[in-house]
Amino acid sequence: MFNLKKLVLDLLFPIECLGCGQPKIWLCEFCRQQIKINFLSRAHLSSRSLSGIFVAADYHQPTLLKAIHHFKYNFIADLGVILAGILIEFLKNQIEKSDFFNFDLIAAVPLTKKRKLWRGFNQSEILAKTVAINFNWTYSSGLLIKKYQTKPQVGLSAQQRLMNITGAFKLDNQAKVKGKKILLIDDVMTTGATLSECAKVLRQAGAKEVWGLVIASDQDS
Ligand SMILES: [Zn+2]
Repeated sequence: MFNLKKLVLDLLFPIECLGCGQPKIWLCEFCRQQIKINFLSRAHLSSRSLSGIFVAADYHQPTLLKAIHHFKYNFIADLGVILAGILIEFLKNQIEKSDFFNFDLIAAVPLTKKRKLWRGFNQSEILAKTVAINFNWTYSSGLLIKKYQTKPQVGLSAQQRLMNITGAFKLDNQAKVKGKKILLIDDVMTTGATLSECAKVLRQAGAKEVWGLVIASDQDS
């Protein structure tokens, strides 16, 4: 089938490894393994609703930054599965060390319908789904709903970010989250305002615990 979008993307961004430049793959296994994972990272930034956020890798790694950028802003959905590999490797290591890492439900930070259509996919959904399938955890598609498009968070203070996002989410099905230990997945975290606000909605519906997991935090120095 003739796929115009794919053809245009292939012309704009010929497929080559973002690390070493070898053709026909976005990130080769060797370069992917060069991305350092924070196996020792502990959860941080808890809020009243959010028990804590796990950050799988350091943001300031050139190949990782390029991969995240191409995934989100250049619409390369294929990179999602490769990037989910970082979350999976992080979780595998944690599971080996502790019984804590067991979740009843995996959820993704949502985009508005319009935004998802524009991008062609929700980057957090690809990550969350890939993680859930790998560990045989339940993934609830469309559980959280973003009601309207909020102003871009860039340039806002932590307080303004929280205000900007407050009230933007709702739940598709309250019964699904009651009593559950939930892992909420997003790509990159800044202040954690979005994860906190999503967690608030889940907790209000009776979720037992909500934990966040992101690939990286752009606030790392
Ligand atoms: Zn490579």
